[in-house]
Amino acid sequence: TSNVTAAFDNTPVLQGVKNVIAVASGKGGVGKSTVSANLALALARNGAKVGLLDADIYGPSVPTMFNCEREMPEVHKQNGKDIITPIEQYGIKLMSIGFLTGDNAVIWRGPMATSALKQFIGDTEWGELDYLVVDLPPGTGDIHLGLVQNVPLSGAVIVTTPQKVALADVKKGINMFLQPQINVPVLGIVENMAYFTPEELPENKYFIFGKDGGKEMAEKYGVPFLGEIPIVQSIRESGDSGYPAIMKEGVTAEAFGKLAEEVAR
Ligand code: ADP
Repeated sequence: TSNVTAAFDNTPVLQGVKNVIAVASGKGGVGKSTVSANLALALARNGAKVGLLDADIYGPSVPTMFNCEREMPEVHKQNGKDIITPIEQYGIKLMSIGFLTGDNAVIWRGPMATSALKQFIGDTEWGELDYLVVDLPPGTGDIHLGLVQNVPLSGAVIVTTPQKVALADVKKGINMFLQPQINVPVLGIVENMAYFTPEELPENKYFIFGKDGGKEMAEKYGVPFLGEIPIVQSIRESGDSGYPAIMKEGVTAEAFGKLAEEVAR
């Protein structure tokens, strides 16, 4: 759209990026950031050059999940403009508002947040990337609209749990991407926390948040179902310790590997 051209006229830095994939969720806490991080690593594991932008300005979690909380991205001038060098960790180029704000809470209003995000995306030296994964804030507010209108997204992945209250917001998310002036293809729905499985008994499944909610939602709205990720204690632990779950072989690595294959199709 003309919006995309207007916002990125002077920002050739995104030109080397082949696909920009947004990861969205209707609700917070469903595992959107966990999926973003592991998806980015799974894509890289398959040989792609990958960047991850933490656009969740109200709760940036990339610095913690990638064990680089104390890192500070370098800024240099290029043609009179400040250009940010992303932090590189585990082979992924990372940018997060968390690198700049540390522990301080961000209380920006919509328009400021949108322009800050635009700057982050446009002024970061991503270089040549096959995928830039964008971890969006939860919900479908002004920030999302500003972002999806201004960033040339190739597609959106929607994360949900099978629970009814989470699913209710999924519809809003799908509609946001599909509305005519945005028109971003929905690559599909990922059902996170699909069931609990004890690590030592991976064949035992307990459907704590209900069963198949994400799958049924995908059918109902005619978008692909990208698969399910179980609740595994090590996913939570690995997120907190700075070594995303996919870095360890097992049921989780397999689930995220499958997701990356679906997204790369
Ligand atoms: P969101 O980005 O949607 O707010 P997060 O990715 O931050 O959600 O996940 C919320 C919490 O749930 C985190 O502590 C994370 O480690 C944990 N978590 C996410 N997915 C799983 C899972 N499949 N199994 C276990 N814990 C998970």
